[in-house]
Amino acid sequence: MFGPGPTMVEPGVYEVLAKPLVGHLDPYFINILDETREMLRSMFGTRNPLTWAISGTGSAGMETAIANFVEPNSTLAVLGCGFFGSRMAEMGRRQGARVVNFEKTWGEVFGYEEVAEFVNREKPAVVAFVHAETSTGALQDPRPITKAAREVDALVIADAVTSLGAVPVSVDEMGIDVAYSCSQKGLSCPPGLSPFTASPRAVERLNARKTPVPAWYLDLRLLGEYFDGHKYHHTASATLFYALHESLRLIHEEGMEKRFARHRRAHDKLVRGFEDLGVRMHVPEGHRIPHLNTPRVPDGVDDAKVRKHLLEKDGIEIAGGFGPLAGKIFRIGVMGPMANDGCVQMLLDKFGAALRA
Ligand code: PLP
Repeated sequence: MFGPGPTMVEPGVYEVLAKPLVGHLDPYFINILDETREMLRSMFGTRNPLTWAISGTGSAGMETAIANFVEPNSTLAVLGCGFFGSRMAEMGRRQGARVVNFEKTWGEVFGYEEVAEFVNREKPAVVAFVHAETSTGALQDPRPITKAAREVDALVIADAVTSLGAVPVSVDEMGIDVAYSCSQKGLSCPPGLSPFTASPRAVERLNARKTPVPAWYLDLRLLGEYFDGHKYHHTASATLFYALHESLRLIHEEGMEKRFARHRRAHDKLVRGFEDLGVRMHVPEGHRIPHLNTPRVPDGVDDAKVRKHLLEKDGIEIAGGFGPLAGKIFRIGVMGPMANDGCVQMLLDKFGAALRA
């Protein structure tokens, strides 16, 4: 699996998926939850007490962020250069917020001046952006956004669905208030959980809400009664938490910095290989997601045929572009166990052969 997610998981993670079930309030399971929360704090680069995993995929994390921190009739500013910004905007509209979009061409990123000008004009209560935009391959530096948002006292929500586990997210250092992710990309786990963190400043805003959070299942204050108070809220999946716990344990065993560097090396080798094949990258150097590569489809090549060839002849899954980038880019994930020289070389050889075919 060399797509944008789900991606390959480590053999040890498959093994724990077969472990016997325990109840969602069993002391053994509560200990797994607590250890998972602590490892997630390191992964997110935060000391936020409110750090846990929502039962659901990345979109559940997104909906949790929007439902809890965006109040009806408040202004939500969405900075979008791709598909997932629009999903946040749609969720904001459904919460009854006034949504203002700042959109740029798919594949671009935002700089400080333009964001500062936008938020000064719109005065949003919340600013939301996508850290690693999976639809384009662009990595947004959070700092220009958090700096501009703080100047108008807005909360910042970061979508870290594709970034967490493969590049630093550094929530505290970057000034991000709320971040959510998924289990099936940079964390090398099956889908089904959405790591989530919120700063004390965000929690203060939550406690000052004038209206109840409309989504009962995703209400963070109710979820706190489970994760902190160990009282029943919903029946969390022990199996999925075993998997997340094991994947985080393996990441910490390798060392986060080493893991980030390994993904970076795999990316460099892949990009050099594309250059040798005469294939150009969609996103300019310096703004690329290292583990989600978006080479442009060369002139005269039908991307669907290349993908079909790889899947049918070699059992390799890669993805194509969509929206304005349909037929224009490939989306190739090199994550977790695949981020090494051998796998990248194998992929380059097969990809080159598929292009020629
Ligand atoms: N945000 C981004 C940046 C994504 O890439 C995705 C999925 O690929 C999502 C949100 C939604 O996550 P999920 O499909 O796990 O619900």
